Amino acid sequence: MQILTVLGATGSIGINVLDVVSRHPDRFKIFALSCHTKVIELAAQCEKFQPLFAVVFDRSKANNLKKLLQETSPGTTVLCGIEGLCFIAGEPSVDTVIAAIVGAAGLLPTLEAAKSGKKILLANKESLVMAGSLFMDAVHQGGGTLLPIDSEHNAIFQCLPSDYTDAKKCGVRKIVLTASGGPFRGLDLGSLSGVTPDQACAHPNWKMGRKISVDSATMMNKGLELIEACWIFGVSPGQIEVIVHPQSIIHSMVEYLDGSILAQLGNPDMRTPIAHALAWPARISSGVASLDIIRAARLDFEAPDLERFPCLALAIQAAETGASAPIALNASNEVAVDAFLKKEILFTQISEIVAMVLSEITITEPSSLEAIQRCDRESRELAIKFIKGYL
Ligand code: NAD
Ligand code: MG
Repeated sequence: MQILTVLGATGSIGINVLDVVSRHPDRFKIFALSCHTKVIELAAQCEKFQPLFAVVFDRSKANNLKKLLQETSPGTTVLCGIEGLCFIAGEPSVDTVIAAIVGAAGLLPTLEAAKSGKKILLANKESLVMAGSLFMDAVHQGGGTLLPIDSEHNAIFQCLPSDYTDAKKCGVRKIVLTASGGPFRGLDLGSLSGVTPDQACAHPNWKMGRKISVDSATMMNKGLELIEACWIFGVSPGQIEVIVHPQSIIHSMVEYLDGSILAQLGNPDMRTPIAHALAWPARISSGVASLDIIRAARLDFEAPDLERFPCLALAIQAAETGASAPIALNASNEVAVDAFLKKEILFTQISEIVAMVLSEITITEPSSLEAIQRCDRESRELAIKFIKGYL
């Protein structure tokens, strides 16, 4: 029996995790679930899975959750805040932590899971983009395992040898990261500034949370994923090629020195990478239908258009610069995306704000968690200042 904590249980990834878990009651037991504010959804999940702990980040909602659980899940203890999240991530009886909080808010509990030697199923790419070096050190020192559930990284993981340690030793020539190109791949460039949050969130292939949906529309998501891949697989940005593949059937590829290319294919459904990582190295059913390759009929590929997707160019540049550049990239992007979702800025201003923050901020080598958090905070303040200039 694998004992699980799900950080971000009420989100798109969290719901998919619980769907897979509910198919295998003999294999998985839920220890704890968490949410930001959606206590009604969390209470329904607690009723079904009867966890020992439920954590609501927003302290003002803790009493609401307690009341909701009184009759339906009396054995569940309610905790709140960042201490609650870190407790359920590091508690000794937990085997596996699913890191599915969106954004920098996921960093501390995910880091706690790493330090405590857990098996971590990582969806929260932002924490790795912010604190890659610190996070990977914590995974190694804690003695745990990091398994990616971001579909591309999970695909790459599946295409690498099981004893993979180093790209060179394993004969890897390059990693090919595929991207759908999002909802605006074919839109004329002049119309991009007028797109609405709902249009940006209407992804052609995947149903996801609103922040990552906007990131997919700007292709910042692929830039964050490039940085994520560098840390997980120990490669440099130059060893990763991003290609647009609108059908999202190939989830990424690995090319070897002999010219072989291994790819992982499947329907675009997050339950596949989630089931893979939950049961790894075994295979379990996920509820995902077989890929009908005859019906899919064709797979298209094109180079990303960096004029249309300036966020991708900015992310590649930040990856190459390294040091605190990815922290500033991620923080300014989170602030800009939030402002776009609130209709305070235009879609095309997201990349402008990220570019301004990156050019203004002093890039340093962040040697501690405090230094990372400081750079994150300063980048956010700068982004807010630029947004106020637009208002
Ligand atoms: P979502 O918005 O649907 O869910 C986010 C979850 O995090 C919710 O449970 C929410 O309650 C919680 N949360 C939000 N802010 C929080 C805070 N400040 N403190 C504590 N909890 C907070 O997002 P999602 O689409 O499920 O994405 C989650 C993460 O997974 C992101 O990092 C995203 O990039 C990554 N990811 C998602 C997908 C996908 O298909 N949705 C695919 C790959 C990677
Ligand atoms: Mg992805």
